[in-house]
Amino acid sequence: MRVSREDDRYYGRKYYHKNRDKLLERSKEYNLKIREQCLEAYGNMCSCECGCREDEPHFLSLDHLNKDDPDKKVARSGSSLYLFAKKMGWPSTLRLLCHNCNQGRYYNGGICPRLTTKNSQKIEEN
Ligand SMILES: [Zn+2]
Ligand SMILES: [Zn+2]
Repeated sequence: MRVSREDDRYYGRKYYHKNRDKLLERSKEYNLKIREQCLEAYGNMCSCECGCREDEPHFLSLDHLNKDDPDKKVARSGSSLYLFAKKMGWPSTLRLLCHNCNQGRYYNGGICPRLTTKNSQKIEEN
């Protein structure tokens, strides 16, 4: 009795893993496709004010223009945000940012550090 139950569990788990891999693979492909469409819809380029215009797709991700965007509660980031953007018809409340600008803004109080660094350099030069 005990053995067979363990067997069941073993095979159940095996089946689950096999299926999960397949499901993961499929959703990964799907998410990549959505992401591609998303990058395309938002110009395939970092839209940060610093003008970095990074166009390496792997560096780009969607960002909420407004920090207090209520949509942020629905979809914050990652594949759920790409899906959300597609569903909403690529809303203008979102934009593409490269990871540098995105992270930089986060740590620099919402302003791309490239902007503040450039400004302080200019001040020094003058
Ligand atoms: Zn950028
Ligand atoms: Zn920037």
